[in-house]
Amino acid sequence: MKKMHYAIVGAGPMGLMCAMELLEKGHEVDIYERDDRIGGMSASFNFDGLEIERYYHFICKTDYPLFDLLKRLGLSDTLRWTDTKMGFYYNGKLYKWGTPLALLKFDGLDVISKFRYGLHAMYTKGIKDWRPFDKMRATTWIRKWIGEKAYNVLWKSLFELKLFEHTEQISAAWIGTRIKRVALSRRNLMQETMGYLEGGSTTLLKAMERFILERGGRIHLREGIDKVDVSDGRVTGIVVAGEHKPCDAVISTAPIQYVPRLVPDLPPDFAARIDAIKNIPVACVILKLKQPLSENFWMNINDPDIAIPGVIEYSNLNEMSPSILYAPFYMPKTHPKWASSNDALIDEVIGYLSRLNPAFKTDWVISRHCHRYDFAQTICPPGFYDMLPSMKTPIDGLYMADTGYYYPEDRSINESVHVARELAALAMRA
Ligand SMILES: Cc1cc2nc3c(=O)[nH]c(=O)nc-3n(C[C@H](O)[C@H](O)[C@H](O)COP(=O)(O)OP(=O)(O)OC[C@H]3O[C@@H](n4cnc5c(N)ncnc54)[C@H](O)[C@@H]3O)c2cc1C
Repeated sequence: MKKMHYAIVGAGPMGLMCAMELLEKGHEVDIYERDDRIGGMSASFNFDGLEIERYYHFICKTDYPLFDLLKRLGLSDTLRWTDTKMGFYYNGKLYKWGTPLALLKFDGLDVISKFRYGLHAMYTKGIKDWRPFDKMRATTWIRKWIGEKAYNVLWKSLFELKLFEHTEQISAAWIGTRIKRVALSRRNLMQETMGYLEGGSTTLLKAMERFILERGGRIHLREGIDKVDVSDGRVTGIVVAGEHKPCDAVISTAPIQYVPRLVPDLPPDFAARIDAIKNIPVACVILKLKQPLSENFWMNINDPDIAIPGVIEYSNLNEMSPSILYAPFYMPKTHPKWASSNDALIDEVIGYLSRLNPAFKTDWVISRHCHRYDFAQTICPPGFYDMLPSMKTPIDGLYMADTGYYYPEDRSINESVHVARELAALAMRA
């Protein structure tokens, strides 16, 4: 085997995992990260003395590639499981959610609609081959199963507040795998169980970093790659801060929309395929509260006066005091609210909390923060399998993938690990 020198773009879980695979096979690896820390979307920050993820992370019972990685790194005993509760705030009232009993007690739907909803969940849990659902529209598929009324009550606002103008253009395979992943993360029919890592995702990221450094890999923080140099259709190196650094191959794990900008030599038809893939940014509010807002880990919201799809009380998964609540605003950059200040978004969320729990007082808020990520959610329309450009690009020695390649699965660290292995294997096959 010829020893190759790889440059990796991005030190999120996928970049780190690619590096681990390459180093294990004896290659030389440099990871370049433009942020000041590793982790990408899974990174933590210092929230007034508390080290916590910028965005909430939960683990599901079926996250097998992640469990393998934890084992490989000797971290299996940091994995914790919690019996979590779910809520649904619908038209001014908070309902228990996520169990057959809760569905029965919910007074926002008739019996037939509830039965159809339950049947759809059972059916989706059993789907093994998602190919036939790739070309179907999610909204059509769900409406067909549960009816228009139940769609409007249970799904419409979730879709619209996360996907906006893309709502009617989402693949059934993508939404179906999300339903299935959460539905299978249970101890029994009545009890949802979600996982987290002791110390948060940082525990995993730090162990991956150690693994890489111990094997001679290098991680360059605050050193974004500005350009990939190409000669005669083949990668010759990268440009960082104006300096050409030679390497044999480049693996990009940054959002693929960056790739045409990094590689001006990319054939225009390939660049156009990348440009056709859309993404939704997120502005995620995080609050430290004196006490929990509710007993729920996850609360879905359908209320005409509340413009967020839900709130996530992370401290009801990973018990900690004070309480931690996340509230994501997903929105296209064309949305007027994207131009709002972080403070305005935080105030908006705080304004909603007394509706979700009338006992809430603004003096419960100890600390506040809002973090934004430009490429938070890939839009996966019907036919997305055919839309995804290949991970091996037409430039020799240039490979790429991002969270869109988890399709039909949604983004998760589990899928970062899974796809990174495929990506590294492809890059080593050359
Ligand atoms: C709101 C939210 C909630 C989530 N919830 C969960 C959850 O509950 N469970 C779960 O498992 N996952 C969750 N995720 C998803 C998880 O965080 C991602 O799947 C994972 O972080 C993706 O890793 P990645 O390495 O593919 O990409 P990223 O994390 O996006 O990393 C890409 C990296 O590339 C860097 N980069 C970009 N351009 C350059 C450049 N030119 N040069 C150098 N570096 C560059 C970026 O700075 C970034 O660090 C969530 C994500 C979000 C946003």
